Amino acid sequence: MANKRDYYEVLGVAKNASQEEIKKAYRKLAVQNHPDKNPGDKAAEERFKEATEAYEVLGDEKKRAAYDQYGFAGVDGQNQGYSRAYQDFSDLFSGGGFSSIFEDLFGFGGFSGGSSRQRDAGPATGQSIRVNTEVDIHDICGEFKHEFTYAHQVACEACNGTGSKSGKKSMKTCPTCGGMGQIRQSSGFFSMSRTCPTCGGRGQIIEDPCPACRGSGTVRKNQTLRVKVPAGIESGTDIILSGMGNAGPNGAPPGDLYVRINVKPDKYFVRQGADLFVQVPISMTQAALGLDIEIKNLMGEPVKVEIPSGVQNGKIVRVKGQGLPKYRNENSRGDLYVKFQIETPKRLGLKAKQIMKELSAAMGENDHPSPVPFTED
Ligand SMILES: [Zn+2]
Ligand SMILES: [Zn+2]
Repeated sequence: MANKRDYYEVLGVAKNASQEEIKKAYRKLAVQNHPDKNPGDKAAEERFKEATEAYEVLGDEKKRAAYDQYGFAGVDGQNQGYSRAYQDFSDLFSGGGFSSIFEDLFGFGGFSGGSSRQRDAGPATGQSIRVNTEVDIHDICGEFKHEFTYAHQVACEACNGTGSKSGKKSMKTCPTCGGMGQIRQSSGFFSMSRTCPTCGGRGQIIEDPCPACRGSGTVRKNQTLRVKVPAGIESGTDIILSGMGNAGPNGAPPGDLYVRINVKPDKYFVRQGADLFVQVPISMTQAALGLDIEIKNLMGEPVKVEIPSGVQNGKIVRVKGQGLPKYRNENSRGDLYVKFQIETPKRLGLKAKQIMKELSAAMGENDHPSPVPFTED
């Protein structure tokens, strides 16, 4: 805490700044350094915390007076409380509850440009939404169509998206905010105005709301879509379908739909990019003598694999071109890596036992093996 910056400096306001100026400056900094806009950016997170702490003090006339008179010492007592609040905040950063808090406070929270445009007075755009879908790893061996169902807001058919029963769209002053478009709200240690939820900041609401959509102009609808998924797609990739998000209020253009493709792993084959890894048990005699075996690849097709004679347990051989198609380079494939797991027979028949004994003798085996360095495997 030794090199803490002056709170006025942090917010970039004058010592005699009005509450309105302080709030405005904080809001600007908080929006700029919003974690959704700066994912993984520690510096932005620090700037946000610093600005929040400064606003906590300067935004409160009592604390501000104490700070003006005594500096950090004047607000030290409260500061212990802050540091705990910030720890809670860091949890929220990694969680995702954070953006919903912001949605509450500032009236935005989506990850799309569309929803941040919505904050400004201009034409509102529908919110972009994300849907998580799961595909099978076998499906991504080639390009395929994935079908999924999701829910989104669409323009209300009963009123053509106007929200008005008669279609006249006559307006009246919003009773919640009295036409201000903003309501004051305190949420924990924040206290500031937020967009009125009743009128969405417009200050006016529809006089004869459409009963089907309660005046919002949009209704929730389930929709089934088919999306083209490129071969070899990585799990966690978003396919963006523009205009398939939520419809905007009053017929404004819809946001986008982010289809998150999660690839279900296979039981046997482990994927790493376009390469696949699999383990194959072989017998000790096969390992000693070597031979060509046939295994099935991920697609169930037969693949020849050569076991070199004298192969050791855990040895990995590469079979070229038997992996997954490469993402965005479909004609080229990754490789298949086969790890040999040499199995010692647990039970031997009489004849096998006899041969083993002869083999042991022929190999000159003794019961005084020399230790070698320990290895994990
Ligand atoms: Zn209102
Ligand atoms: Zn309607």
